[in-house]
This record gives sequence, structure tokens and C-alpha cells, in this order.
Amino acid sequence: MKTEGRTTAPVAATMTAVKTVSGSQALNQATSLIFETGTPRRTGIDFPEPKGTKSRLGGHDRQGEIGLPGLSEPETMRHYVRLSQKNYAIDLGVYPLGSCTMKHNPRLNEKIARMPGFADVHPLQPISTAQGALEVMSVLSHWLMTLCNMPAVALTPKAGAHGELCGMMAIRARLDHDGASHKRRVLVPESAHGTNPATAVQCGFTVDEIPANAGGRVDMDALRAKLDGQGKDSDIAGIMLTNPNTCGLFETDIIEIAELIHKAGGYFYCDGANFNALVGRVRPGDLGVDAMHINLHKTFSTPHGGGGPGSGPTVLSDALKAHAPVPYVVKTADGGFDLVETPDEKSFGRMCAFHGNMGMYTRALSYMMSHGSDGLKQATEDAVLNANYVQASLSDVMTTAFEGTCMHEALFDDRFLKDTGVETLDFAKAMIDEGYHPMTMYFPLVVHGAMLIEPTESESKGELDRFIRSMRSLAIRAKSGDIESFKQAPIYAPMRRLDETLAARKPVLRWTPPSE
Ligand SMILES: *Cc1c(COP(=O)(O)O)cnc(C)c1O
Repeated sequence: MKTEGRTTAPVAATMTAVKTVSGSQALNQATSLIFETGTPRRTGIDFPEPKGTKSRLGGHDRQGEIGLPGLSEPETMRHYVRLSQKNYAIDLGVYPLGSCTMKHNPRLNEKIARMPGFADVHPLQPISTAQGALEVMSVLSHWLMTLCNMPAVALTPKAGAHGELCGMMAIRARLDHDGASHKRRVLVPESAHGTNPATAVQCGFTVDEIPANAGGRVDMDALRAKLDGQGKDSDIAGIMLTNPNTCGLFETDIIEIAELIHKAGGYFYCDGANFNALVGRVRPGDLGVDAMHINLHKTFSTPHGGGGPGSGPTVLSDALKAHAPVPYVVKTADGGFDLVETPDEKSFGRMCAFHGNMGMYTRALSYMMSHGSDGLKQATEDAVLNANYVQASLSDVMTTAFEGTCMHEALFDDRFLKDTGVETLDFAKAMIDEGYHPMTMYFPLVVHGAMLIEPTESESKGELDRFIRSMRSLAIRAKSGDIESFKQAPIYAPMRRLDETLAARKPVLRWTPPSE
């Protein structure tokens, strides 16, 4: 079947999906809970009764059944394969989730991370036996500091939000060290990712929101009005700003913003989740940034979401580097590597039990080295080109939130759906029927009915054209008055429209066996 040929075919015509007896649809298998497939009374293994072992539990032996479902090996296998097939993944298709940078995870990274010397390394083994792993951390740090033009990096944070915490704790440590503990106000643009204000509050700061101007960027007059004095006279601790911002736009006044904040005796935290749009082209250190987390699981292609843990190394400026957390890697006089584990009086301490997510360091460094500096720069340029291609190809049927070219993500609002009865949510659900994971919706909050699309550099022009054809057909269908098919969507998914509010507010986390 040619998907291209389906462009404006009304889904409504094929909507009367037959309810199958098995619950499966075509070769998409129905899946019940593992407790419903197996039963605690069955077992899939056949061990001989243990002989002559005396319990050493001192009378604390389990009294009843453990209650785990017993399944045969093929049943177990099928259960998990069926679940995995209900999962959408970057390995299946375009994953346009804006702000999340769902890019391809190169298999070379996986191969390197699985090499025995890397895969088997243990955080408690003697330093002399983990020199290779420390060298990976050292070289990765070098690449990150070079790409950012920043003098230090804390590798341990385990996600972007954790990196924010690292940076803001360093800022707080510096302020307290300088006897400026009255500086507690942090400016945060209203378009910011929710983690920014959350982090600031977590660190004991108060959040002061700055509005955006009509162009989607920081309103400079509003910013100036928030600055009440210079140096210690001001209560400004700093600013948390994303660049490119969450509207997918480069903050053109960023250098002036950094200068104003520094004059007020504050520090510039940059949310680096969108570094994918800058690598090799812009160095945050040149913009006056004092701290910035880098999501290895976004910019540097390590898997995320269900695919793996995150990693949020945080680069620090000269002003903050002395306050970095432990542990960190240092080179020794004999050309080897050591870990500094004990914080001095300036370091704010420790964020993680060990050294962070080692497996992600290996993967990210593998991505960097296989691309080289020219390749990283090209990845950035392709990411921006792809987003602009999507924006330009849809701008006649959808409404772009802001005028002009975008950076690495294209942002649409819901003006094109006005009076159609179709809302952003319905549009997103209809994308599922087209075989695409929906874009990020209703974020950033400053744009009404926002639809944020980040194609990343992973997509070829052919893939983008296929995606664009689907999006165009949905936009045209919405405007044609076919509300019903949108309200019904998704029609082909294993689960239809769910009550997401109820699911979030009253999650069912416990399975109770049917009464016998
Ligand atoms: C993803 C993201 C974060 C948080 O990163 P996590 O790794 O999910 O904790 C923060 N800010 C922005 C703009 C992001 O896109």
C-alpha cells in the first residue's frame, strides 16, 4: 500500500473497525497484564526440590506465596515482545517531539559501550584498574569544554534537570561564599521548561517571571525593569534562560542579557537542552554563560525515555568552577588519571553516589569522535535545515507561531484550526493513525495550542516529505469540516482515546486478582 496515495482519504469511511473475537487486530496481538496471562499457581521452571539446605533466615522465612505470575518461557517471551511492539521508537519512524531531540542512536555507540572493558567496569574497583574509563571521562570533558568554550565540566548529573540543580547549586555556593546570601531572586522567562523554575525553587531561590515580546524572545524592557541595582545592592542571583529558547528561536539579545545580569552581580544559567542547534556554530562561553547543562541523551545521541538513562554534564565558567561537585577526574603527574572524591571548602559537595552514568559517556564520546568536529557542525546545520524545511513546507496550511526562520524546531499555533472544532489534542491523536508519534503539544505555554516539531538531523528528505504529506493532509482535512474522524482518533491504535486526566490523577497502580 502506498501511504502517499492516502493523502486526503477520509478515515471516517473505514472507521467501522470490526471488533475481533481475539481482541487482536490484524497481526497486532492483544496483550493482557502479565498477571492475567500467568497465574501464581503455575510455574515455567522445573527445579528439583532443594535437599538438605537449612534456612538461615532465623525464622523470617516467607509464610505465604510470593504471588508472582507463573508463565512458560514462550508465554513470557511473547508478553514482552508484544509490549515492545506497542511502543513507538525512533527506530520505527519519525519522532517529532519538540524540545526532546529524539535523534537516531547510532549502533556504533552501542557496540563501543558493550566492549567488555567498558561494560564490565565497576565503580568500586581500584582506580589503577579503571584508567581507561577515567580517560574516556577526561576526553569527553575535553570535548564538552571545547565545544562550549568553558573551563570546567561536572560530569555526574544524571539528567538535564539534575544538571540544572548542579548549576544552580554552584551559583548558590558562590553567592554564599561571597557573603551574598541575600541574592535569591532568579529571573525565568515565561516560555521556560518547567524544570527551570522548579530547580530554582528547589535551591532556595524565588522565581521572577519575564514576559516574552511579540517576537517570542525575552522582552528586554521588562528584563531591565526587573533589575533593581548593581552588584551586592541587587537581590538578583541570576537568570535561567534557554537558548535557542523553547519557541525554537535564537535569543538575539543574549550577550546584552548576560552583561545586564553580571552587572547586577548575578550569574547566567543557560538551559542547554537545545544545544543540538548550536554545536560547532556557537560556544556558550562566548555568550557570557556561567553554567549550562548538556543533555547527552539529546544532543549527543545517547538513548533516552524508555531506551536508557539520561546524563546531564554541566559546564561551568571561571566564576563557578571552584564550586563544582565531586568526584571529578584529574590527570596525574605520571600521565595517568585520578578521581578527586573529597570536596574542599568551596565545592558544594556530591550529587551522586558514584561517577554518573558511565555507559552514556562512552556512547556520547563515540558519537563525537565518529562525527569529528566537522561532522558535529554539519549535524547542527542539518538539524536547523530540517526544521526550517518542515516549517516552510507546512506554513501555508498551518500557522507558524512566529515569523521568520526557526532554529532546530518548528513551532505552530492553533490559529489554523480556528472554527474547525478540531483542537491541538485531536490533531495530535490523528497523527497516531498516520503512524507518527505526536509532536510536543501545548508547550511552550506562551503559544496558544502550541505544536512543537523537532525533526532533528536524523531524517532524510524522503522521510521528511512523507511526514509533511501526512501533516498537510491532516490540516486540510481538519479545515474541510471532518471533525468526527479527529474526535474519534486514534482509530488504529491498540488503545483508543484515553482519559489522560483521570489516568494522571487516579493512576491504577495495583492489580487485584478477580475474586474467585
Ligand atoms: C529536556 C529538557 C530539560 C530537562 O532534561 P531532562 O534530561 O529531561 O531532565 C530541561 N529543559 C529543556 C528545555 C528540555 O528540553
